[in-house]
Amino acid sequence: MQPTIASLRRALEHAESYLESLPERHVASKASVEQLRQRLDVGLQQHGVDPQRVLDELVAGVDEGLLASGGGRFFAWVIGGALPSALAVDWLTSTWDQNAAMGSCAPGAAVVEELAGTWFKELLGLPREASFAFTTGCQMAHFTALCAARHALLARAGWDVNEEGLFGAPRMRVLTSDCRHGSVDRALRFLGLGRRQLISVRSDGDGRVDPRAFEAALRSDSAPTVVVLDAADLNIGACDPFETLIPMAQEAGAWVHIDGAFGLFALASREKRELVKGVLLADSWATDAHKWLNVPFDCGAAFVRDARAHREAMNISASYLVAEGELRDQIDWNPEWSRRARGFPVYAALRELGRDGVESMVDRCCGHAVRLVQGLAQLPGVEVLWHPTLNQGLVRFLDPGALATEAQHDARTDFVIEAVNASGEAFFSPTTWRGLRAMRISVVNWQTTEEDVRRSVEAVAEVLGRA
Ligand SMILES: *Cc1c(COP(=O)(O)O)cnc(C)c1O
Repeated sequence: MQPTIASLRRALEHAESYLESLPERHVASKASVEQLRQRLDVGLQQHGVDPQRVLDELVAGVDEGLLASGGGRFFAWVIGGALPSALAVDWLTSTWDQNAAMGSCAPGAAVVEELAGTWFKELLGLPREASFAFTTGCQMAHFTALCAARHALLARAGWDVNEEGLFGAPRMRVLTSDCRHGSVDRALRFLGLGRRQLISVRSDGDGRVDPRAFEAALRSDSAPTVVVLDAADLNIGACDPFETLIPMAQEAGAWVHIDGAFGLFALASREKRELVKGVLLADSWATDAHKWLNVPFDCGAAFVRDARAHREAMNISASYLVAEGELRDQIDWNPEWSRRARGFPVYAALRELGRDGVESMVDRCCGHAVRLVQGLAQLPGVEVLWHPTLNQGLVRFLDPGALATEAQHDARTDFVIEAVNASGEAFFSPTTWRGLRAMRISVVNWQTTEEDVRRSVEAVAEVLGRA
């Protein structure tokens, strides 16, 4: 057998045993860092080994260091799973090994990516004329869209940032929520907009930017302004009042960008769409396919209403014009040069699910999040900090001592999370929200079932019962 095919067959066998083990697998990693290093560090050898041996030994070495994040009882961070067609097509993407930088060097990939981008816009109801780019993740989607924002705002102020860079450029500023994700700050930093240019606007009790505080901040300065709003925030899935804020910002000449890493998918659900009302008024949007669309890592997506600004900010060719019918050159829209054909798994996921499938996945995840939090709320010593409005909830665990302090409740919360994770039954991550330690519940995987929800509540009950 040809060695590549033999290796792929072997990989399929390993994948089969992994995927078959997934529903009952210990969700957390079982090996210590030391053990993993010991198992995997064979040193760089002088002579190579047989490809199948490479596979077998890597699998054996890493197995206990894997988190079963693709399974149904993983609720930490906001991770997402992998749909059957998306995972399989991701394998083919590696097999085909196209360099999806330019149309001429990967024509099939260019056409598929163009369709995937168009369908993605249709799914969410984004403007037809908006341009797009499939990036490594939402942070790089921020970078891409905000690069277009910087370009357009500075051009309006008479400054060509491609030519002059930022030395001597008009000062810019960024208004954003105090609940924003750290990836916004980092994308801005890469763009030369440091912390001092960032103004955090106060959010209200529901985690939404306060319109009055926003208006005051908007009016306080006439510098070119980028506004970054949340759809939705990481802890509680709070969505800013777009209908009020976006027209106000645009009236003042600002560019409005949306961090919609997972929350933008509310647009695909008739039940949840109301939460992000007005979000389509924005100038650019960043989201992830590797979160709620459940394609394998990695894939984010940027959408920019002003396609010309996007292309001018990113392109490498002299011409700013794209001829009708021309094969798409991703390099003119993406920050990377050589790149993986990320459109393939997105195309597959959108075909596998269709509009109905995405909607029902979103609704199902939201329903599970509600039931998980409701189930936990029944347990002794559980305080619900946030009942999910979307797919994110927060609870904390109270120290039973009559005179217990906040610090003790925090410690109890961390202890319970660690014990649940150590049980291997379910996996959650801690967060600090409004000064309190909390356990975050994020449901964003097609695999999660009612039974997973029941088992996860029971895993927490079990820990509370013994300590
Ligand atoms: C995950 C996340 C990000 C960062 O996305 P990456 O794909 O990890 O780059 C940004 N914002 C929010 C709200 C997120 O949940």
